[in-house]
Amino acid sequence: MKALTWHGKGDIRCDTVPDPRIEDDRDVIIKVTACAICGSDLHLMGGFMPTMEKCDILGHETMGEVMEVGRAATRLKVGDRIVVPFTMSCGECRQCKWGNWSCCERTNPNGKMQAEQFGYPLAGLFGFSHITGGYAGGQAEYLRVPYADVGPLVVPQGIDDEKVLFLSDIFPTAYMAAENCGLKGGETVAIWGCGPVGVLAIKSAFMLGAERVIAIDTVPERLALARQAGAETIDFGDETVQDRLMEMTGGQGPDAVIEAVGMEAHGADTVAQKVSSAIMAATVSMERPFALNQAILACRPGGTVSMPGVYAGPAGPVMLGVLMNKGLTLKTGQTHMLRYMKPLLERIEKGEIDPSFIISHRSTNLEDGPELYKTFRDKKDACTKVVFKPHG
Ligand code: NAD
Ligand code: ZN
Ligand code: ZN
Repeated sequence: MKALTWHGKGDIRCDTVPDPRIEDDRDVIIKVTACAICGSDLHLMGGFMPTMEKCDILGHETMGEVMEVGRAATRLKVGDRIVVPFTMSCGECRQCKWGNWSCCERTNPNGKMQAEQFGYPLAGLFGFSHITGGYAGGQAEYLRVPYADVGPLVVPQGIDDEKVLFLSDIFPTAYMAAENCGLKGGETVAIWGCGPVGVLAIKSAFMLGAERVIAIDTVPERLALARQAGAETIDFGDETVQDRLMEMTGGQGPDAVIEAVGMEAHGADTVAQKVSSAIMAATVSMERPFALNQAILACRPGGTVSMPGVYAGPAGPVMLGVLMNKGLTLKTGQTHMLRYMKPLLERIEKGEIDPSFIISHRSTNLEDGPELYKTFRDKKDACTKVVFKPHG
């Protein structure tokens, strides 16, 4: 089959690789009907994640049709349409029982390696380096889905793939980011990053009762999409974010802030695990602090900082003194997918939201993948989200 594979920093290829097969009773094999490139894939493309290996298959936003069912995955049957959550959960460990699905203790066979880095093993992830299990990803014609008796969401026939594909990651991620703001109704929320996660976080914040959302980015098409989602916007290339936010909130600051940017925001080099003095200077500068520090500085005292943005190692320095003295709450994490997939599917079915409005680029040929990765990374050609339908 064809699949998009990692060959080194900036080097994504479309290769012919062996078809996946059932390796465990809990597996199913799907024919991938739709898959997408995520901002998190850009961390891999950028060489920020250690433990990627040549020819690793990328992709963790995937859905498809069940072709083959392992003996223990009887919750599913051949022909089912499923959306696959990007994290794997066993359903049996303490963390799964607590509903902390992304902290599953059993789905990452390389958990020991991860524990050495983070002090704790975390769930297996599709297409996301060997530190998270080395599982093949779903930017491919077919995908093996481990722990299929727990994770995948069956979606009804007749609902368009594009409407439900983002239940695999970014819609639940954006929703959890907004939920982590602890909104009660009537708040002002500021969001750094108007990529797919940021824009869906705008929608989610409104769903959860925010009165105003102020979104920050510098890419014109992304700022336009944020306005389309109902936000007021700040272009950080034109304006001093801090001053503008204070002006817009009558000197109070937003009630909650969301950092939907991640590690590229300040060029943290997590592979080498060092921060160059230039970056250090830029990140501690009060004039141009990196996104997380801007968010901490802007948030009103007693407010909440929600951080869906992904970091894989030391990054900073973070303004912990400001965080502490203002009595802010910091909430973050990989998304606990199984809390959100079903309720959000219901919202889509009721017509409350159609997340497909963020798609800008579509392809039925994975051979276009390497070029589309660059287009998405460089924010060229008004690219906001790339979706492949590998079987047309
Ligand atoms: P993306 O790269 O498409 O979007 C990031 C946006 O941030 C871009 O539009 C960029 O112009 C903007 N940006 C960069 N620096 C900025 C700054 N200093 N201030 C404001 N905006 C800035 O990525 P995405 O797909 O929207 O994902 C966003 C983040 O969420 C990534 O870090 C991704 O890894 C992460 N993510 C987390 C989870 C999770 O489970 N927590 C899941 C999916 C994605
Ligand atoms: Zn993702
Ligand atoms: Zn578990």
